[in-house]
Amino acid sequence: MRIRVLGSAAGGGFPQWNCGCENCRAARTGAPGFRARTQESIAVSGDGESWFLLNASPEIRAQIESFPGLWPRAKRHSPIAGILFSNGDLDHCLGLLSLRESHPLVVHATATMRDGFRQGNVLYRTLERFAGQIDWRVVTLGEEQALGSEATRLRVTAVPIAGNLPLHLKTLRAPSAEDNVGYVIRDERTGGRLAYLSGVAGPSAELERAVEGADVVFFDGTFWTSDELIAAGLGTRRAEDMSHWPISGPGGSLEFLSRLKARRRIFIHVNNTNPILREGGPERAELQRQGIEVAEDGMELEL
Ligand SMILES: [Zn+2]
Ligand SMILES: [Zn+2]
Repeated sequence: MRIRVLGSAAGGGFPQWNCGCENCRAARTGAPGFRARTQESIAVSGDGESWFLLNASPEIRAQIESFPGLWPRAKRHSPIAGILFSNGDLDHCLGLLSLRESHPLVVHATATMRDGFRQGNVLYRTLERFAGQIDWRVVTLGEEQALGSEATRLRVTAVPIAGNLPLHLKTLRAPSAEDNVGYVIRDERTGGRLAYLSGVAGPSAELERAVEGADVVFFDGTFWTSDELIAAGLGTRRAEDMSHWPISGPGGSLEFLSRLKARRRIFIHVNNTNPILREGGPERAELQRQGIEVAEDGMELEL
């Protein structure tokens, strides 16, 4: 299985257009140790020919162009065999609307995510110009399914992970276990196992099962501390209010990750305020001591 990180930042990207925090200013001015990042998405392939995107970020066009593996091989063609949604937040699915150039697309999502994206969304009509333009494949929680055709030899399991309703659906309906998922992808050829958990509110039995036996774990690296936005004078919400498990301190996600036996453990979906974005900083050094990495755009892995 080949994995390419297309985007590694949380919603808003890094730097974020309306943010003048220390990190964003450093990234904008090209200060050493700061690397700009687009919003979170990775591409996965079993055969190096057809690719699956995990999430469709608002920066999907630039992300596709950034990676030759996703370029067309004919006059009208795309190697993108499917897109999987981890939740219905706009930073994870808005990019789908940008792929409106009359190309059939396969989207894997829970029924709740599909309905949240489609219902009452007049813009979605641009993806309904012909029958089958979007082929929704409903994922069933906890059930391993073939990813794409059997020929890909990839199997996927959606894992319910405590999360939140997308902002635009708050008050419109009740939260559901289908609102936020992680994905475990298994390569039948190599036996390699990827656990992709870019939005995690906290520990759970499902989470424990998802990471068990994984060779590579991508994990929610949104915030270093619970009060990161408050301390920086940028907001009033704590990490937990946004269903993100803070990395540092007792009971933080770093403690959890440091216990795992996976070959690679990588924080992704990193918010622009997070001090781990500073290469050479003390927070980054703390991760390095545990052998834990921070995703960056363009990173490639094989398992
Ligand atoms: Zn997000
Ligand atoms: Zn910022």
